[in-house]
Amino acid sequence: MSTSTVLGMVRHRSARRSLAILSSLLGLYAGAALASEPTVGPVPRASTCLFNDSHFHLTNYVQQGTDVHTYVNAIMGDKICRSTLFGIPLQQTWSYENSGNYAPTYYLQSDAPLYYYSFTDAVIARAYQSLSKEQQARLDPMITGFNPADMYAVDHIRRVLQLFPGVFSGIGEFSIHKEFVSSKVAGETASLTNPALDRILDLAGEVGLAVILHCDIDMPFAKAGQEPVYLSQMKDVLRRHPKTTIIWAHIGLGRVVQPTQSQATSDGAERSPAYMELVEAMLTDPTLSHVYFDISWDEVAKYAVASPESMQRTAAVLNKYPERFLFGTDNVAPADQAAQLRVFNLWAPIWAQLTPEASLKVRRTNYERIFDAARIRVREWERNNVH
Ligand SMILES: [Zn+2]
Repeated sequence: MSTSTVLGMVRHRSARRSLAILSSLLGLYAGAALASEPTVGPVPRASTCLFNDSHFHLTNYVQQGTDVHTYVNAIMGDKICRSTLFGIPLQQTWSYENSGNYAPTYYLQSDAPLYYYSFTDAVIARAYQSLSKEQQARLDPMITGFNPADMYAVDHIRRVLQLFPGVFSGIGEFSIHKEFVSSKVAGETASLTNPALDRILDLAGEVGLAVILHCDIDMPFAKAGQEPVYLSQMKDVLRRHPKTTIIWAHIGLGRVVQPTQSQATSDGAERSPAYMELVEAMLTDPTLSHVYFDISWDEVAKYAVASPESMQRTAAVLNKYPERFLFGTDNVAPADQAAQLRVFNLWAPIWAQLTPEASLKVRRTNYERIFDAARIRVREWERNNVH
């Protein structure tokens, strides 16, 4: 029995009751009942499944990417049970004036601006709709093609839900502060204090859309010993939306927004313990209990496995608060399964230090809990609001 079948069965019941029924039935999802249904490509049994991917880009900065059938059948295969599915909202301009005949595919390959490419949501929706019901049950598509500095962004999100009902589970990954990217976006720069963002997070809470938000916690190459510059603004905006499920991508880190001191002369370890204290303070704050962290991106994995001490610290926090972290790859348009498993395997030394319970939650069941709840709530909103 697929999750979509389960969702169909609980369609006309109240959301609360639906949740209870769903959670009791979900045990069947990855088990023999699902595997016995006719399908294209392998459908994993729970035992072969390494993880669910909470952070996955099907397409790149020029809207090119992996064929969705290849993604489900060959890349997820029997190793990845479920996955989020989104493109990238920002398109890199190919400016002839800037790079001539060189066609940039990444934001670091050109000085030309990025702009919001809303058509990405239609591309993702159509890709999802081209799949069988069994394949669809393994994916959670996300809306990304809106400008978070635009008070009209909510209208875009509503319009996508109305045009493609039955498809989306959430919004994001979208970015507020992102090293090298924010300053390249054409038009007004997004900010945590812009009411346009509050409107987006309000709508997500109302509809039940899960949110994946990228916001660097700090400026690039920040000095050690100072509070990260965006931390208090970020906490404030999160606290203003307690009814919205928000996943803070990459625990707020970036390529040069590091948990460690970034000056080449430092020993690189000074800020690490302090950083985990900041994260732990958020995890124990009852006003932030709706906030989760994804540990996606190989850049984040590098910090976590940098030294025996960093591994120990990371594992300790994951073991202590296992409900609050989700694994994801943050891969962009991967060519094959090896690319997905490479990011997962970077974490091997930390997986080895987790309790079986914590490991299962971070790799799989937190994803299932958050995105199953989102699916139920968004479908219910669509029934009441899409005519
Ligand atoms: Zn990402």
